[in-house]
Amino acid sequence: MKGTVYKSTGSWYQVKSEEGKFYNCRIKGKFRIQGIKSTNPVAVGDRVEFDLEDKDAEAQGVIKEIEARENYIIRKSVNLSKQVHIIAANIDQVFLLVTLNNPPTLTTFIDRFLVTAEAYGVKAVILFNKTDTYNEEELIEVKYLAAIYRNAGYECIGISAKNGKNVAKVKELMLGQTSMFAGHSGTGKSTLINAIAPGLNLKTSALSEQHKQGQHTTTFAEMFDLKFDARIIDTPGIKGFGVVEIDRDELGDYFPEFFSRKQNCKFNNCLHLEEPKCAVKEDLEAGEIAWSRYKSYLQILEGEEDNYRTDIYPK
Ligand code: GDP
Ligand code: ZN
Repeated sequence: MKGTVYKSTGSWYQVKSEEGKFYNCRIKGKFRIQGIKSTNPVAVGDRVEFDLEDKDAEAQGVIKEIEARENYIIRKSVNLSKQVHIIAANIDQVFLLVTLNNPPTLTTFIDRFLVTAEAYGVKAVILFNKTDTYNEEELIEVKYLAAIYRNAGYECIGISAKNGKNVAKVKELMLGQTSMFAGHSGTGKSTLINAIAPGLNLKTSALSEQHKQGQHTTTFAEMFDLKFDARIIDTPGIKGFGVVEIDRDELGDYFPEFFSRKQNCKFNNCLHLEEPKCAVKEDLEAGEIAWSRYKSYLQILEGEEDNYRTDIYPK
């Protein structure tokens, strides 16, 4: 039988079959997938093949195979420093909630987040929330920011989770997809999810409060079916979008508007710094690439010598 992992609690996995029935599954043997060493062999979102265990335990199964993952996000394992924990797999998109104030979201934060999403291969959509609270000046600022990120290739939507503005648009994007929600605490993730799926009551906020107090709660990601054809992956207790190591010379590839120009740089390993005939620098000077994006690029690049580790949620 084939199915998708909705929940994992260590040694047991809740798998939803193609027929829509849930089975408690265990794993037997070892899985080696895509060369990654992780503390958990199976993650939420994994598509698996499983056998029913025996006739009198009908709702139990054994996972025997994991389909190659389209993508996955990770965090460092708490116990084994060299190993990673796979938070979730096969994520279609992440919605990043951004607010101008209460709390402020900096462009450097947005850019670091987007780099991580690009590195993971997860599509990101930017939602500018709380538009109901902005004055004229702030609305212009939102438009300006949205223009920067649309120019970089990202879909941007101004929404109000509170009064429902453009929530239908978000729902439309979620149709048939598996989505995650990210953004600083207080940007309105819970409010938005509640507007999209009343009664779902994800644990996200309550548990991240515990996290702040330095408690190490073992929590697990979980996938939820919504009443319309959509799924949400909730990651209680997990503060960020994971950690990813990026080499200096590949960082530019995770800025889509740099990557698309790289072929026009004189050097094919151009870092878009002081190299001659750099297409990125030329378009930056011409105003076709945003300075804020380039500044974030430099900031990330200068962060470390060999490589840069993004940990997109500030401690
Ligand atoms: P989370 O930490 O990202 O889950 O944020 P919450 O959903 O808990 O929202 C934080 C605060 O912002 C709450 O007081 C919400 O009522 C408020 N809030 C969320 N979205 C909006 C919005 O679109 N407009 C306004 N005015 N307030 C909002
Ligand atoms: Zn260049």
